[in-house]
Amino acid sequence: MIFFSELASGARNPGRPLRRYKDSLKTSLEACGISARGWESLASDRGAWRPAVQKGVGLFEEKRPKGLDQKRQARKERIPNPTSAVTCPTCDRVCASAFGFRSHFRRH
Ligand SMILES: [Zn+2]
Repeated sequence: MIFFSELASGARNPGRPLRRYKDSLKTSLEACGISARGWESLASDRGAWRPAVQKGVGLFEEKRPKGLDQKRQARKERIPNPTSAVTCPTCDRVCASAFGFRSHFRRH
């Protein structure tokens, strides 16, 4: 029942089906380098499960900052929509929208 129940909040993108606990678990297992197919038998062997989880969490924590850096870099390199872009007259920063410009301009 827990496996196929749906998450209460925060896990749904518009137009996407609701995510179940098992979908979330599969994502987490794959992020930790544990196969989503044979994890049940691995989990039943406590002596093998514990080191696998520790290794997986170590790998995940190692990869996470790199992924965040790449994501941030991609966001910073994204060129704002040229039709709605507004350039700040004070510091020449290109803002993606008039709203973004107003938000930025409050800092001057
Ligand atoms: Zn500015």
